[in-house]
Amino acid sequence: MKYLFVTGGVVSSLGKGLAAAALGTLLEHRGLKVILQKFDPYLNVDPGTMSPFQHGEVYVLDDGAETDLDLGHYERFTSCNLSKLNNLTSGQVYETVLRKERRGDYLGKTVQVIPHVTDEIKNRIHEVAKKMEGDIIITEIGGTTGDIEGLPFLEALRQFQDEVGHENVAFIHVTLVPFIKAAGELKTKPTQQSVAKLREIGIAPKIIICRAEHQVDNELRDKIAMFCNVPRSNVIQFLDVKDTIYEAPLKLHQENLDGIVCDALGLKTPEPDLTDYRATVDRIINPAYQVKIAVVGKYIELQDAYKSIYESLTHAGASNDCGVQIVRIDAEDIEKYGPEKYLSEVDGILIPGGFGDRGIEGKILSAQYARENRVPYFGLCLGMQIATIEFARNVCHLNRANSIEFDPDTPHPVICLLEEQKEVTEKGASMRLGTWEAKLREGSLARSLYGRDSVNERHRHRYEFNDAYKEQLETAGLLVSGTSPDGTLAEIVEIPGHPFFLAVQFHPEFQSKPRQPHPLFKGFVAAALS
Ligand code: GLN
Repeated sequence: MKYLFVTGGVVSSLGKGLAAAALGTLLEHRGLKVILQKFDPYLNVDPGTMSPFQHGEVYVLDDGAETDLDLGHYERFTSCNLSKLNNLTSGQVYETVLRKERRGDYLGKTVQVIPHVTDEIKNRIHEVAKKMEGDIIITEIGGTTGDIEGLPFLEALRQFQDEVGHENVAFIHVTLVPFIKAAGELKTKPTQQSVAKLREIGIAPKIIICRAEHQVDNELRDKIAMFCNVPRSNVIQFLDVKDTIYEAPLKLHQENLDGIVCDALGLKTPEPDLTDYRATVDRIINPAYQVKIAVVGKYIELQDAYKSIYESLTHAGASNDCGVQIVRIDAEDIEKYGPEKYLSEVDGILIPGGFGDRGIEGKILSAQYARENRVPYFGLCLGMQIATIEFARNVCHLNRANSIEFDPDTPHPVICLLEEQKEVTEKGASMRLGTWEAKLREGSLARSLYGRDSVNERHRHRYEFNDAYKEQLETAGLLVSGTSPDGTLAEIVEIPGHPFFLAVQFHPEFQSKPRQPHPLFKGFVAAALS
């Protein structure tokens, strides 16, 4: 097994995760089996309890792990299927160490960061190497070099090189080379200093990836090579991608990143054939048609809160030969100014997942607008609950129908707490999580889009469609077209006769890839297009 560690320098949000994922694409095209994982130095056990304002989207894996959104990049850019093993946080490390201490496993020793915390970190890498088959593990270290909380991770990795042999390990440092406008120059000093910090710890990166707004010329590369003690050929640039993030592998291949990595680790592989990949990227960049899709949510101003949804729309667009212009609408604006102002020009309306009552009425108005005006509607998780509430209120005339999440005293709780949630008191990792099967109804839109009668989709919710209202809602025209195998839990609702009105209790956005767009997203964009 070969090990590649990706660290970041100077500032956060450099696109380390994207670089790691894009490298994964390239190495897979060289025939290697790649495993990706992320270490996050924060103390939360997982990001599941963090607000999207803090951390962007929570990405859910098949096994129900609530993880960092970079794992979404990893799964979209490669064929790897990840599990809770692939996202380690300081919180998890300390939780394990403290549990062992309470059990008495340390046999009277003083428990310390070195060796106990660092051992736990190394154990995880060994565990992944043992349990997941592969040729290379790419591990991204969250945060920025110099952060106090990142130190135990870096120290563990320093030790790890000795354990598995330095020839099997390489460090890539992703750094910012800022452009100083007044001087009209790119500056290398921050890179020199952040690499110096790593070397102080005993880590010498073999490859430097320079994130920059302008071309990093040869003179600058020479300088970085000299100060950072790497060969000149191993200093590469990674400029902002213009049209789509799926260009990243192509940009990095131009700089021979995959070749450099294979040389650094003694991996003998053929050159990658990127013809098909390039064709996919071309389809994303040069579509024949365009559609406008409104995403009505509450974290609209954040780039990362609905990351997987935006990506899934891009994949679905490419497969329909159409570009998707995403119109981000704050649900509270719809409450204030009405839906026409925002929705009359769009070709489709998507309501994403969410928690808490802010903006709920605006989302309900949007669903009503979509239903009445025959605009394609796609509801995800909360978006299905919204569609149900809207239908109950406005078609079945169930006054003040609601979810008990938003109105515990509603006379018509069409969305109620899942039975299994009634005893739950803790917030962390306690929702209905991960992959569950759904059976699809013969003759339904869902069934025809999937082309199968049963599917596995990822979940993250506490509330559910209330079966007590099923008959009434179905008689009025809201069809439950997907259920749990025992038939008790509604997983999909749709309105037959509407051009496209489909809402799901799960998160299809976690299973879409550029070359395998999710069938429901594909159908939604196709409906918007027509
Ligand atoms: N808040 C809703 C629930 O817990 C929806 C969750 C979601 O959209 N992920 O059921």
